Amino acid sequence: MEFELIRQYFEVPFAPLAQAHRQVVGQGIGDDCAQLCVPEGHTLFVSSDTSVEGVHFFSDDAPFDVAAKALASNLSDLAACGAQPMGFSLNLTLAKPQPAWLQGFSSGLLHMATGHACPLIGGDTTHGPCNMVSITVYGCAPLSHHGFHRSRAKAGQDLWVSGLPGLARLGMWMAYRQRGLLNKLCESPGEADQLDERLGSMPVSLSHLALQAFNRPEPRVALGLALRPYASACLDLSDGLAGDLLHIAQQSGVAIELQAQPLLACWSSTLGQVSSQHADWLLDTSLSGGDDYELCFTASVDHRQAIEDLARQAEPSLFRVGRVLSGQGIWLSHGDGQALPVGKASFEHFRPRGTTSLPS
Ligand code: ADP
Ligand code: MG
Repeated sequence: MEFELIRQYFEVPFAPLAQAHRQVVGQGIGDDCAQLCVPEGHTLFVSSDTSVEGVHFFSDDAPFDVAAKALASNLSDLAACGAQPMGFSLNLTLAKPQPAWLQGFSSGLLHMATGHACPLIGGDTTHGPCNMVSITVYGCAPLSHHGFHRSRAKAGQDLWVSGLPGLARLGMWMAYRQRGLLNKLCESPGEADQLDERLGSMPVSLSHLALQAFNRPEPRVALGLALRPYASACLDLSDGLAGDLLHIAQQSGVAIELQAQPLLACWSSTLGQVSSQHADWLLDTSLSGGDDYELCFTASVDHRQAIEDLARQAEPSLFRVGRVLSGQGIWLSHGDGQALPVGKASFEHFRPRGTTSLPS
């Protein structure tokens, strides 16, 4: 049963992809170990992420999306290091193997894997109390590439983001709202009503984009590779701009100033004009919202033109949203010469308490 399941949903459908990358995949599914050939003069990058049903995804989520997102979150880590994907392994725990679910899962996984030239090279399949997806990705980069370490930001550099930070958090709220579960994210019924009303007043087109960003994030692998000559520090946004940037600020020993105007410009590039009624709230969402899988990076001012050229050529949009300063902490400026510290309290509304996970 287990062997047949592996063969039907993983070995057979993924064989052409492994075959197409046979110079990298020395041995794929079917032996005791997989074997990856790291090109000479390159170094290996490895990252793992686990998604648990009821914690990281809803039981009724489309299995296609569950799989695509699980692989996307792993690929996003490679992107944030400027690494080229080489392959991934899949540890799958199933409560009850259901053909329809597995078929959707396999298709979503293959879709994402094919899109990023990342063959499935092996894994393990087990029974367990609920469905769990644990993926490890392997990537490589030339030895000369330093991997955009978080300690490499320097005062005077620009701060850039890709896409629209916060959009996926809007999508998460929409997903809860659709299921009548907003109260799970809020401290009080009043807060849930307020959030419900705000979400209800969003244009339908934005709801659609937000749900798409939450359910089907696109890892910025090509962007990560293109940034190799330019970025100093880089990370993928998983905990919201303010929280994630703190990692760069602390590890680099610098302060980071975020500018409200370009952050709002990210929203208006999608929404058109942002009404003042929504501006503060959207700004807050950008600072606190997680699960974006967008890249956030610092780069020398000397590279500004090259990065702008890059932004014109490729999806997603890139926005210069701040700068690195000497000092410490994360600051928000409104263009009036004043910068205020981004306090935790100011952006913790509606965050699932104690965790960024979905409630079971
Ligand atoms: P072993 O007993 O050597 O651990 P398994 O029976 O667990 O072997 O797996 C058989 C083969 O199938 C191995 O090559 C393994 O890497 C692969 N495999 C098992 N589960 C998966 C999965 N979910 N996705 C991809 N490959 C898998
Ligand atoms: Mg095994």
